Amino acid sequence: MSQELDPITQAIRIRAPKTLQNEHSSPLYLTSSFTFDEAETMRAAFADENDENIYSRFSNPTVDEFVAKMCALEGCDDGFATSTGMSAIFSTFMGLLKSGDHLLCSSSVFGSTFTIVNKYLPRYGITCTLVPANDKEAWEAAVQPNTKMLYLETPTNPQLEVIDLEWAGQFCKKHNLIFNVDNCFATPLLQRPVDFGADIIVHSATKWIDGQGRVLGGIIVGRKDLIKEIYMFCRNTGPAMSPFNAWVLSKSLETLDVRMERHCANALKIAKTLQSNPNVSWVKYPFLEGHSQFDIAKKQMKAGGGVLCFEIKGGVVAGRKFLDALELLSVTANLGDSRSIASHPASTTHSKLTDEERASVGITPGLIRISAGLEKAEDVINDIVQALEKSLV
Ligand SMILES: *Cc1c(COP(=O)(O)O)cnc(C)c1O
Repeated sequence: MSQELDPITQAIRIRAPKTLQNEHSSPLYLTSSFTFDEAETMRAAFADENDENIYSRFSNPTVDEFVAKMCALEGCDDGFATSTGMSAIFSTFMGLLKSGDHLLCSSSVFGSTFTIVNKYLPRYGITCTLVPANDKEAWEAAVQPNTKMLYLETPTNPQLEVIDLEWAGQFCKKHNLIFNVDNCFATPLLQRPVDFGADIIVHSATKWIDGQGRVLGGIIVGRKDLIKEIYMFCRNTGPAMSPFNAWVLSKSLETLDVRMERHCANALKIAKTLQSNPNVSWVKYPFLEGHSQFDIAKKQMKAGGGVLCFEIKGGVVAGRKFLDALELLSVTANLGDSRSIASHPASTTHSKLTDEERASVGITPGLIRISAGLEKAEDVINDIVQALEKSLV
């Protein structure tokens, strides 16, 4: 039956086994380990001869429910849930790469991912070449005989570059590379990397999947043989997701489709309004005509996502004033929340860098990133517009 159901329905209907109470909402299996009535069953469980749960670092029915829903949404056979998005990403590298391997990585990746591939992987003999997101010749030139994996994220954070997944999938096939995609910004509701040949898909479930800024989480889904390797790494090293967080995230998946519709509609409305604002130099959003990869975005995404960015006139000083003038939007280090969030990297997260260093990671002095929430778009727009008026320098 569940085979024929739409993935969106599956994300609502897949559930952990009912308890004797016949509860309607899913039970929360908050337990570290599982008991065995017979030593023989326990032996068989450890020998991988049955599917019995042993210990929640390995598997847990509530966590399995979340994983099964994510597999349905991403169109994948298997997966593993982790404590955070970063542990998901790190585990894919550790599970699939070894000393002597080379990794190709988009230069526009999440900050901590950048640190892993540049600082930590090389310590263990895994080298990495960073390639500008949309420079196809540079990708081609960077391939080495020992290149094993290509890792990218699209749309990118915070510049919202869109990378052509169809092209990247063909590139990986041609060079026999594992194609690993961080699908955090789009979510499986807007973009399914497997349709373009991705082998592994990772998410920070902390963002749109939770959607209300409550818990941290990560998820890895993909090809069964690769997930098996990653699973064995995780089972032994311990980045498992807590069953409590899995319960929260699994319930969140029941509303992800409707939430993303509103997030995307709000983001587009905000982006369009800001295009004609006199205090804004430019606005960037994947589904805004004029975006350099507008056609690619339209080809591979159902909607433009919940994040937009713009350049405030007046640089760092204006950006700082803007944050202080906001009355409704939250100023916080997260995105993908029901509450709209504004951030200004140049005066906060990236304030220690020089202008040149910031430019090299695509952060201009007046770059403001907005994560569109679920409020009425007009209220969010009014707050942004009044804050822009107060930010003139
Ligand atoms: C937040 C984020 C991560 C890291 O996820 P955590 O859950 O914070 O560990 C990775 N990739 C992207 C694109 C993100 O936005």
